[in-house]
Amino acid sequence: MSTQKSKREITCDVLVVGVGPVGAAVAALIAQKGHSVVAVERDLQLYPLPRAVGFDGDIMRIFQRMGLVDKIAPHVRFSPYYDFLSAEGETLLSYDRSTGRHPSGWLPNVTFYQPAIEEALREQIEVSPAGTLLLGYTFRSLTQDESGVSAEFQRNDETINVRCKYLVGCDGARSQVRAELGVELEDFGFDEPWLVVDFLADDLSGLPDRNVQICDPQRPATYMQMGPGRYRWEFMVLPDDDPAALKDEQFVRTLLSNCGVTRNDPIERLALYRFHGLIAKQWKKGRVLLAGDSAHQMPPFAGQGFCSGLRDAFALAWRIDLVLAGRASEPLLASYEEERKPQVEFMINSSIRLGQIVCTTDVERATARDTLMLAERKAGSVPPPPMSYPPLESGFFIADQPGAGQLFPQPTREDGAKSLRFDDLSDGRPTLISRHFSQLAALGSIEDIWLSAVDRPELEPFRQQLEAWLEAHGAEAVLIRPDFYVFATGSPSTLLDSYRKTVAP
Ligand SMILES: Cc1cc2nc3c(=O)[nH]c(=O)nc-3n(C[C@H](O)[C@H](O)[C@H](O)COP(=O)(O)OP(=O)(O)OC[C@H]3O[C@@H](n4cnc5c(N)ncnc54)[C@H](O)[C@@H]3O)c2cc1C
Repeated sequence: MSTQKSKREITCDVLVVGVGPVGAAVAALIAQKGHSVVAVERDLQLYPLPRAVGFDGDIMRIFQRMGLVDKIAPHVRFSPYYDFLSAEGETLLSYDRSTGRHPSGWLPNVTFYQPAIEEALREQIEVSPAGTLLLGYTFRSLTQDESGVSAEFQRNDETINVRCKYLVGCDGARSQVRAELGVELEDFGFDEPWLVVDFLADDLSGLPDRNVQICDPQRPATYMQMGPGRYRWEFMVLPDDDPAALKDEQFVRTLLSNCGVTRNDPIERLALYRFHGLIAKQWKKGRVLLAGDSAHQMPPFAGQGFCSGLRDAFALAWRIDLVLAGRASEPLLASYEEERKPQVEFMINSSIRLGQIVCTTDVERATARDTLMLAERKAGSVPPPPMSYPPLESGFFIADQPGAGQLFPQPTREDGAKSLRFDDLSDGRPTLISRHFSQLAALGSIEDIWLSAVDRPELEPFRQQLEAWLEAHGAEAVLIRPDFYVFATGSPSTLLDSYRKTVAP
């Protein structure tokens, strides 16, 4: 009997390897811009269970840009409070996100059901005629030269070769793309095993009324509300635990009753995870870039793993778009790693600091920790470690300008039952907003930047907020990048000039 082997050749602008949430977002965002994208995933079915549980307002702002808010909204739950408690139930650290406007124009933090969000992201790839999703093909190897990358995938006896201008590796923590590049991981020295248990329930009565970390040295534990219909408990695995018992339902129910919970809801999933902090030493090699868990992994205590991957996708997509469109040169792509790596390092360190508070199993150290943190909290002297991203340190912006390198807040206005949002006015191009429209007339007609002014009728709903921002930064005008970071402030003509010089040096 002869076996027939087939080989297919595909060409595209961008090849995305791995279609988890990050790969799906990268592919959808680039295809949305009209560049041909092939996204290739090893598994035939979408992973049916959640891993991440929360995302912040900046991520909803990205979903807004993708046109996905209506699809995603039914699968999220507002999650205003996140507390770290001692074994005795005293509050050691508290994040209150119940009041105040979030700069993104959305709720500061929500919990969510990951498979539904992933499905929405995946569907978005093929909404664009330029997007193709291939399921069931495993990435094997790549070679690259000056003009592009060739990658090989396998499915049973079938091999496909994809030739692309850029390849984005989004193939998760054990990335084969990263291995092919020979890129090593830097280890932040945090590595803790935890048991993660998801329960199905619509009614959460009798459970904590907020997300909590129970910093009990006998067995640290976490409770998270998740998206509608579910909640999660996580328990730290201790050195004396019997590995066989860890996946036993009765053992889990005992751990739960130790936390004062006697409900008997069905378990949807029980899994062992290692929470660690790792970052790829290089995120770009030639025409291959890494994003999401293939570039970094962090403990979940700040809820920023998924969020960091989505931020990578957003940071990368507009750069690749501009380079492919011939509107920017290669250094713009290099600024992806230059900007994102320090931000992610910061977030890994913040997550580890939170993890070190939670994962203390030495009773004496835990008592000392509680005493110190309770005293600090009483004195109001120590702010909790940040869970939002710091501004950019260096990269594609004019560093010495007021506001440059910060995320531009999204002005919003409630209009009856409708919310008006500033970002909906632009279409993903860089945006230049000046105080007066007359200042823009001299610039002539410009295609690649959306120009508007605070005194234009379309900006009327946001006039007050825009004026306040410009006033606070002493700026005549602001140029905002497609990923909402401020490129620079100044006069419209200077802004345009420095943007042109920087984008295509
Ligand atoms: C218990 C837990 C709790 C978490 N909580 C949070 C949280 O609250 N908030 C948060 O922001 N993050 C959280 N995270 C992190 C978050 O889940 C991940 O950061 C995120 O899912 C990573 O997405 P990704 O697309 O980069 O990778 P993945 O989701 O791993 O996707 C990678 C994809 O690549 C495919 N693939 C792999 N190898 C190949 C190959 N050779 N060929 C083709 N395809 C391949 C895989 O099948 C997969 O579909 C948590 C993680 C865990 C484990």
